[in-house]
Amino acid sequence: MDEPRQGPAGRWHGVIEAYRQYLPVSDETPVVTLLEGDTPLIRSRHIGPSLPGNIQLYFKYEGTNPTGSFKDRGMTMAISKAKEEGARITMCASTGNTSASAAAYSAAAGMQSVVLIPEGYVALGKLAQALAHGARAIQVAGNFDDCLKIVRDITDNYPVTLVNSLNPYRLEGQKTAAFEVCDALGRAPDFHVLPVGNAGNISAYWMGYKEYQQAGVTESVPHMLGWQAAGAAPLVLGKPVANPETLATAIRIGNPARWQEAAAAVEESGGLVRIVTDDEILAAYAQLASQEGIFAEPASGAGVAGVIKLAHEGFFGAEPVIVVCTVTGHGLKDPDRAVALAPEPEKAPPQTAAVVEMLALET
Ligand SMILES: *Cc1c(COP(=O)(O)O)cnc(C)c1O
Repeated sequence: MDEPRQGPAGRWHGVIEAYRQYLPVSDETPVVTLLEGDTPLIRSRHIGPSLPGNIQLYFKYEGTNPTGSFKDRGMTMAISKAKEEGARITMCASTGNTSASAAAYSAAAGMQSVVLIPEGYVALGKLAQALAHGARAIQVAGNFDDCLKIVRDITDNYPVTLVNSLNPYRLEGQKTAAFEVCDALGRAPDFHVLPVGNAGNISAYWMGYKEYQQAGVTESVPHMLGWQAAGAAPLVLGKPVANPETLATAIRIGNPARWQEAAAAVEESGGLVRIVTDDEILAAYAQLASQEGIFAEPASGAGVAGVIKLAHEGFFGAEPVIVVCTVTGHGLKDPDRAVALAPEPEKAPPQTAAVVEMLALET
């Protein structure tokens, strides 16, 4: 198969301009964009070909968005609509990436953002982003679910706009990733794989795939395959998890806000939602970086680990299938994890000969 086509002809103006006809915006909506979207769909060079079966594996690499995760697709919509409605203050609970994105888009829109983050469980890079963009960051001595409850209480009762994925515009924006996948492939994939935390993204992709099919752009829709971390798998267990635990902090969520929609996406698409362990997540995370050249954050490894697991179970069969796996966020967001896993750099004196000897180079 050919390399997928990338992006539209001409200049890119962000996801709202690109997919305006599918989005709840009007000429009056002030578009707040940082030119998110138009992210690469990268054909797997090593992981895909090494798997049993006949899998054409692609990575939809969302780490190239302005703040380094797919959250920007939803945030351009949420903040544009908030501005249209005259909002001054935005608020979200976040495992990190939503707050980084909310802070950046709020700054661009001239609004104050407030982010509630679970103490001790937000990757350093993400916290730095929120603060750099001028957010008021409040660390709550509780988990994500505790933070979200406070945000719901406040935004229900005060003139503060909620920009968590409970905000319906977030999913509208995020569904554009499914459009981009179809535009790049010239069809819908057979399977779409992604990590599941608050379950907004799997719901948004499913919306996008269905809308493209209904509009006659594509003929089929993919089976949606969601992956949760073993210690934070409420959708798989069928009940909330009181104390979710996983090193993949972006999916460390015990009571997903978009539970019903995600369950419907899995059901309607003939998909599944299953568990991968933290060890499997880390192995996939390392493989992505070292074999594909794609540096992702640990949560993104969950989807990749899921593809590997299913392929070894023979799930995809022998016929050729197109599998797209969303790589949700950039590896630099969680530098502590990367440094902890990497070996120490080697040491050398400041002499060429010494380095040549270390590398055992011969002319
Ligand atoms: C938000 C996020 C997820 C989880 O997405 P949900 O929509 O909450 O299921 C996964 N990976 C990264 C990097 C994220 O930022």
